[in-house]
Amino acid sequence: MVSEKMYELGTKKSTIRTIFEFGQKRAKEIGKENIFDFSLGNPNVPAPDFIKQAILDILDTVSSVDVHGYTVAPGNPDAREALAKSINKRFGVQISGRNLFLTSGAAAAITITFKALSEPGDEFIAFAPFFPEYQCFVESVGGKLVVVPARTDDFQIDFDAFESLVSPNTKAVIVNSPNNPSGVVYSLDTIQRLADLLRRKEKEYGHPIFLISDEPYREIAYDGIDVPYLTRYFENTIVCYSYSKSFSLPGERIGYILVPDEVSDFEKVYGAIAGAARVLTHVNAPSLFQRVIAMCADMKPDLSVYEKNGKLLYQGLLDAGFSCVRPQGAFYLFPKALEEDDYAFCDRAKKYNLLLVPGTDFGCPGYFRAAYCVETQMIERSLPFFKKLAEEYQS
Ligand code: PLP
Repeated sequence: MVSEKMYELGTKKSTIRTIFEFGQKRAKEIGKENIFDFSLGNPNVPAPDFIKQAILDILDTVSSVDVHGYTVAPGNPDAREALAKSINKRFGVQISGRNLFLTSGAAAAITITFKALSEPGDEFIAFAPFFPEYQCFVESVGGKLVVVPARTDDFQIDFDAFESLVSPNTKAVIVNSPNNPSGVVYSLDTIQRLADLLRRKEKEYGHPIFLISDEPYREIAYDGIDVPYLTRYFENTIVCYSYSKSFSLPGERIGYILVPDEVSDFEKVYGAIAGAARVLTHVNAPSLFQRVIAMCADMKPDLSVYEKNGKLLYQGLLDAGFSCVRPQGAFYLFPKALEEDDYAFCDRAKKYNLLLVPGTDFGCPGYFRAAYCVETQMIERSLPFFKKLAEEYQS
């Protein structure tokens, strides 16, 4: 009567949602201040004041019909030109509005891109640990997600494992840096090796292999670390960007797909993106927020609290006896669980009201994710409980 697959997707709660709901219930019983909820990647930094100001200016100066009306499907041309100018200035590239397609956030950007590229039998490669939604995004377009196991000592790429999984069926590779959930930024060396390998395989198979750069955390990187801009290193790169994290606008659903001129057969790829958006009922990205991001494209929000939180939690966990790769960006830590079964570990952590997400959900068993886009005081209050949890395992 209905699609069993859709029913399953719509009714089976994700682990993250289940943990979050458990936290809400416990908070009612014992008080919010006693719950240490590290489950959700929802920015706790408020949207910057310049966003509010831009909204007010637009509402004051642009006619209501224009602000709230349909735009052309790729997005308002003036908005795309303004964004292109800003991207060129920031990353030393040369694009124009014709290279951008505005979307409802990164989730839409990624799914539209998968749909645009996908032909029967295609495979899409992701590197563990990875954003779990990739699985259903790829399956929704009839593709197969192939996962390269994690290189757990630093969460860069295991190139031997990767090469063994690339095949003539590989249509695209998706990377996410700064990474959810590992918090790692792919180094320039990693990016150059990735580009070299993809070029070699493109030559061998006689067709393009696209690199999809999912980068909602681009602006959240620490200690001045460089986050390489991938279109500069590999021609067939498509960027999927979102303002959900950088401008703290996850509920407004705004982002873009960038298809550079250098991509093989640009007109065809951009056209397929427009077609995929059409069948996925995109219509247009939210009209008001197209204007808002265009006005604010060059603005730099203060995201320093994430770095402060990341370092505080990292040091606290090390002091408690955990091992963890040093955070370089995004707002997640991905430490090793204190027992092999990460589900059992996260269950045990609940005893101390520590809400953590098992690494298995990200394709990396034996680890857990802690999202630190939370109040700094909550991290401070949580540290003695991480210590108690670790002591349970030591005794
Ligand atoms: N990609 C990654 C790696 C994410 O972590 C998220 C959201 O958490 C998304 C994509 C989706 O972001 P958006 O809110 O822009 O759809």
